[in-house]
Amino acid sequence: MRTISKNLSRLTRSGIRMILDKAVLLDKAYHLEIGDPGFDTPAHIQAAAIAAIQAGNTHYTTHAGMPSLREAILDKVARENHIRADINQVGVTPGGVFAVAAAMMAISEPGDEILIPDPGWPNYYTQAVVTGRRPVHYPLTLSANFQPDITAIAAMISGRTRAIIINSPANPTGAVFSAETMQALLKMCQENDIYLISDEVYEHILYDGAHVSPAAADADGHVITIYATSKTYAMTGWRIGYYVAPPAVAKAMGRAIESYLSCASSVSQFAAQAALTGPQDCIAEMLQSYRERKDICVAALKAAGIGYAKPQGAFYLMIGIAETGMDSYAFSNQLLDATGVAVAPGLTFGPNSDEIIRISYCADSEDVAEGIARLCRFFQQCRKA
Ligand code: PLP
Repeated sequence: MRTISKNLSRLTRSGIRMILDKAVLLDKAYHLEIGDPGFDTPAHIQAAAIAAIQAGNTHYTTHAGMPSLREAILDKVARENHIRADINQVGVTPGGVFAVAAAMMAISEPGDEILIPDPGWPNYYTQAVVTGRRPVHYPLTLSANFQPDITAIAAMISGRTRAIIINSPANPTGAVFSAETMQALLKMCQENDIYLISDEVYEHILYDGAHVSPAAADADGHVITIYATSKTYAMTGWRIGYYVAPPAVAKAMGRAIESYLSCASSVSQFAAQAALTGPQDCIAEMLQSYRERKDICVAALKAAGIGYAKPQGAFYLMIGIAETGMDSYAFSNQLLDATGVAVAPGLTFGPNSDEIIRISYCADSEDVAEGIARLCRFFQQCRKA
């Protein structure tokens, strides 16, 4: 009998992509839906990739990544994240996205539960479903500025729970967890003997304070940390992520890479090595632009009296839409039809997030300014109606 996978058939389409597909048909759209930095990859990183191609470095690498890149990763995580590891604990994946999947596969069996944030990056849910794990949403709320309620989360841990995924700075909320919160989350994982999968792909896009990696305080192998060059260096198309994990977990993650992908692109690995070891001023320059765009959005929302969560990091901002009386898909579709502004419907980030929408302000500054102005006018009309 010919069949189609039930797990794959269960997946609904990403709301971000649904809005994007409609937006690209317009003569002019304001793209506040997609999270792709509006910058070119810095020149020295491009040059390293070109040199790698010209030198013939266009072949398979070892499954967990080139030793020279893994050494560069070890230096970076020691220097910036205060994580002490050895080379067998780090590996390279095609994008941070596969590091998350490899982590789930490495530490659980089909039927096991993975706690994921609601709202959270949609791939946590889809990857759990595709691999036969059971995604269990833990709520994060606008009223709590999307900070976790650790007592409530601990009560959700069952005998089948294998891990909790956290993401700070967060997509889609822009929230950042403090050192105390990270400590409490780590303690919760240690007490319940589950893994803490810490997705830190937005670690450098932070407006105040310092980024905290819970793995720095992990004395007994409970934390798996995921990074990527995608957002930090405007390298989304190069597809390079990397992870640091306890030795046995890292070994199992390596097996997942080998069987699904063989290895990440060699050319992109040379580019990533240049990114991690080369000049870092591009990070501060891009951050300054994101900060300016964030400030434009916050000023417009404040002036219009629209409720939002204070963005502390990443390049996203959540807006409450309850007072418009619309759900998140209706709001996003009507906003696009009426104004050409594309935003992401909250429901795509989790079942409890239908009263919020996400804007992404990493697009071109003028588009962000015009897009948020149009959104505020539309919101005010809906409120009056
Ligand atoms: N984690 C989060 C929270 C993300 O938002 C993304 C991408 O949008 C990723 C991981 C994956 O990034 P990459 O493009 O490196 O696969």
